Amino acid sequence: MRAMVLERPRTPLVMRERPAPEPGSGEILIEVAACGVCRTDLHVVDGELPNPKLPIVPGHEIVGRVAALGAGVAGLAIGERVGVPWLGFTCGVCPYCRSGRENLCDRPLFTGYTRDGGYATRALADARYCFPLPERRDDAEVAPFLCAGLIGWRSYRMAGAGEGTGAEGTGPQALGLYGFGAAAHILAQVAAWQGRRVYAFTRSGDDAAQAFAKSLGAVWAGGSDEMPPEPLDAAIIFAPVGALVPMALKAVKKGGRVVCGGIHMSDIPSFPYRLLWEERQVVSVANLTRADAREFLTLAPQAGVRSEVTRYPLEAANEALADLREGRLQGAAVLIP
Ligand SMILES: [Zn+2]
Ligand SMILES: [Zn+2]
Repeated sequence: MRAMVLERPRTPLVMRERPAPEPGSGEILIEVAACGVCRTDLHVVDGELPNPKLPIVPGHEIVGRVAALGAGVAGLAIGERVGVPWLGFTCGVCPYCRSGRENLCDRPLFTGYTRDGGYATRALADARYCFPLPERRDDAEVAPFLCAGLIGWRSYRMAGAGEGTGAEGTGPQALGLYGFGAAAHILAQVAAWQGRRVYAFTRSGDDAAQAFAKSLGAVWAGGSDEMPPEPLDAAIIFAPVGALVPMALKAVKKGGRVVCGGIHMSDIPSFPYRLLWEERQVVSVANLTRADAREFLTLAPQAGVRSEVTRYPLEAANEALADLREGRLQGAAVLIP
């Protein structure tokens, strides 16, 4: 098999030939068809997340087909299409696992961070953390659902949305999305489908991203330094920019919530208490649960969510990461081995 490997943080990935691994007990071997490129991969490559497994194969938005089954794997068949997300393993016994919060597990493994991921022609995964993906749409187009979609969905739930619809008056009616990348472009469609008013915030002057947001159902798009035309019920920040926290607090109304959806952010500047006062809240979202994944993967086809992807060959992983870092992408980058 071939894999793009990070040997040391802050160095380019290198192509390596390796023998294809044998699936161990409870594992499956996957022939990778597509793997999305997530901002978290950039944080791993840039050394912004502590203690990665090294060398590591990044990539946690894997779509592929089961090539071999390890001992004891039930419910998956050879040739079946599956998706592999960020959450690669949880212990099942810690207080978080036992209270339905496996996303906060004390001893987790994360795909493409602490176990090898999908920037490769083949990948191993723990079968219990994989999801069957009906062959309804293109492999590359479904890949961004596995993280941008799932973390976006968990952030959306945390913002008070998820159940019900805006038209029924359930959850935020006016929802701000800061940073219009892979996650926001998926979530905007879900929110608009549920009858919520989506306000998209991009880098100021990024006309292309603002037009893109409007094409996906946003009622307004502007720079993150602008105030929306109405106060927001909730906001989700996907851009890794701490300065957006006080800006978003300023844009939400009393009792409103600001959700930080990323795994890493630059420092949040100090801000006057009055921005937080009146029961405004700032919360973060960490990882995902398998329940989040099942919910989102069921809902996405109902909502008719489509993803806009730019395809790169596997060996161009460094270019895909650079394009993501520089904000040159619309939608999501996907590697095709
Ligand atoms: Zn646990
Ligand atoms: Zn991700």
